[in-house]
Amino acid sequence: MSQQPSIAAVPETTAATRLVVLLGHPVAHSRSPQLHSAAFAAANVDAVYVTADVAPADLPAAVAGVRSLGALGANVTVPHKVAVMQLVDLLTEEATAIGACNTLYWHEGALVGDNTDAVGLQTSLLADVAPLADAEALIFGAGGAARAAAVALGRLGASVRVRARRPEAASTVQRLAIENGARTPGGDPPRLVVNATPLGLDGEALPDDLMALAPGQVALDLLYGIDTPFLRAAREAGAATLDGTGMLLGQAAAAFRRWTDQPPPFGAYLAAAEG
Ligand code: NDP
Repeated sequence: MSQQPSIAAVPETTAATRLVVLLGHPVAHSRSPQLHSAAFAAANVDAVYVTADVAPADLPAAVAGVRSLGALGANVTVPHKVAVMQLVDLLTEEATAIGACNTLYWHEGALVGDNTDAVGLQTSLLADVAPLADAEALIFGAGGAARAAAVALGRLGASVRVRARRPEAASTVQRLAIENGARTPGGDPPRLVVNATPLGLDGEALPDDLMALAPGQVALDLLYGIDTPFLRAAREAGAATLDGTGMLLGQAAAAFRRWTDQPPPFGAYLAAAEG
């Protein structure tokens, strides 16, 4: 028996339906369409969320398209988060501090570049790991996600140490944490270890000492939907574990607020992530 295609999940579009687009390269793995489509439906926002695989050389044309097509907004992901900063009219303080944009929205006719990753991670940490005030935290990595983690952990009052393969990049991220309220780290073993690198995506382990956690510690891998060797080793050692799903939901909900000026439907985001 041939299977009928399901049209139940396809939102009904009208002449008034607005576009929200994810610009990245690649984008095939993204869970954002699933999350935002559920949220738009739950909140009665007449918009569709689509992905666009945009090669780096085409990014200026893609952002021009966001403008000329009257899109409601956009998300931006790897590898465009830094390059897009040159292509918007205004940057929020948050995007400037983190040095990357993941969300574009309109404000009084200007296309604004924002970053919702730090606020997303902060939401996740408050829900799942808090309190972190005065706790020691170690961030592994020095890219955009590490910078967002530095801002989030600084605001939560943690003592932040940063480790990366380029020591000067690690120092810059550590300074960012301190500018955002982090305390200078002591020498205690970290309560929270954050993997802010792509290591684990293809089954890679982190450096040996970061794999050796103990009960009472928390391993947070910003990768989501993957049981990485880092998380497995932490779990086997009796440490608590968390992946990047909470951050993903938090940054998505914050982007929803920018695009629509409405409170995000957290329940819809959560249900879509679990579905
Ligand atoms: P970037 O490319 O900006 O940074 C990656 C960082 O990882 C850099 O510091 C890089 O070092 C380091 N790195 C890469 N390979 C290695 C390696 N083999 N050994 C040591 N360090 C390495 O990426 P992002 O910061 O944007 O993303 C990092 C991770 O966080 C990704 O896996 C991404 O999926 C995840 N993420 C999750 C989010 C969520 O919502 N859950 C949101 C954003 C990101 P160097 O600087 O020397 O190149």
